Amino acid sequence: MTRIHYTKPSITDLEVAYATDAARNGWGEKCYEYIGRFETAFARHLGVKHAVATSSCTGAIHLGLAALGVGAGDEVILADINWIASVAPVIYLGATPVMVDILPDTWCLDPAKVEAAITPRTKAIIAVHIYGNLCDMDALLAIGERYGIPVIEDAAEAIGSQWRGQRAGSMGRFGTFSFHGTKTITTGEGGMFVTNDDALFERVLTLSNHGRARGQTKQFWPDEVGFKYKMSNIQAAIGLAQVERIEELIEGKRRVFSQYQRELAGLPLTMNPEPEGCVNGYWMPTIVVDGAVSFTRDGLLAEFKANEIDGRVFFWPLSELPYFPSRPDNTVAHDIYRRAINLPTYHDMATQDIQHVCEIVRRLLRAKDD
Ligand SMILES: *Cc1c(COP(=O)(O)O)cnc(C)c1O
Repeated sequence: MTRIHYTKPSITDLEVAYATDAARNGWGEKCYEYIGRFETAFARHLGVKHAVATSSCTGAIHLGLAALGVGAGDEVILADINWIASVAPVIYLGATPVMVDILPDTWCLDPAKVEAAITPRTKAIIAVHIYGNLCDMDALLAIGERYGIPVIEDAAEAIGSQWRGQRAGSMGRFGTFSFHGTKTITTGEGGMFVTNDDALFERVLTLSNHGRARGQTKQFWPDEVGFKYKMSNIQAAIGLAQVERIEELIEGKRRVFSQYQRELAGLPLTMNPEPEGCVNGYWMPTIVVDGAVSFTRDGLLAEFKANEIDGRVFFWPLSELPYFPSRPDNTVAHDIYRRAINLPTYHDMATQDIQHVCEIVRRLLRAKDD
């Protein structure tokens, strides 16, 4: 039996053909061609005006927060359950992250906790759509509006997710995406900054080009110190092929999730929600075992390992990390992560492999039931 990886990309002849063309011909006057096509296609998929390809999602967040003027003395609110990449740029800019608790059903930040955490120093709210699950965008955007604070979306895990007809990443002041090899669409490493705000777009373009403004006619004259977070044309060629296949790739993720859901029905656990009016892209099928069941994630991970299956722990609360202030009051975050595991998923994952994973989950939870 071959190893079941927790995720892997779907690469076809189309990606190989575009990447080969970029490697062979994408130089000189064509050196940005695939980048432009990738940005345009991605912006069209999302329904946004502007997209800027970057070397990573971390870089896209850094650029966007810098363009908003986030700096020393400012506070940025985000959920305690997150990958470090969503918060690291806040630290790069010398600002202070404020980690709030999550909702028990979506595992995304709790709007009431966000509102309670707002101070005169709050400069942004980062809404991360965790594992494809959507943040309550209506509530968050209303809070942002009421206090004059931009809401930004880290939609790295939410390709294919939609909130009342609007795609994740298209609703905030800006949105960011990752095309790391583990994400729903990939360029190996890579990211995207998107926005409908013309001025913010111009600001990000300048910052992302080492501080050289578009209108600057003097050669090699940076008007300020900016950043260098660009994507290469060869990566963008792979990205363009992935966007051309995006509906198929999203469907693959959704098929895997629904099979997990059917196979695990009736067990004492909950999975990623898909509320009325929303679509979940199901980047990572996740189980949260009911609190009444005695369960350790290490136990399940050991069973997976013995069966050549890669398991992934649910993100630790960021406030557990030694360099951040601890937040024991974030009780939902501190409770859920111990009971939760991401299940393997990739677009063309075989039915038998999904069944094999589910058999182990069932065996473990049934044994606990007895
Ligand atoms: C993967 C991920 C990132 C980091 O993306 P990189 O491209 O590796 O920088 C940021 N935020 C979220 C929510 C992610 O899942």
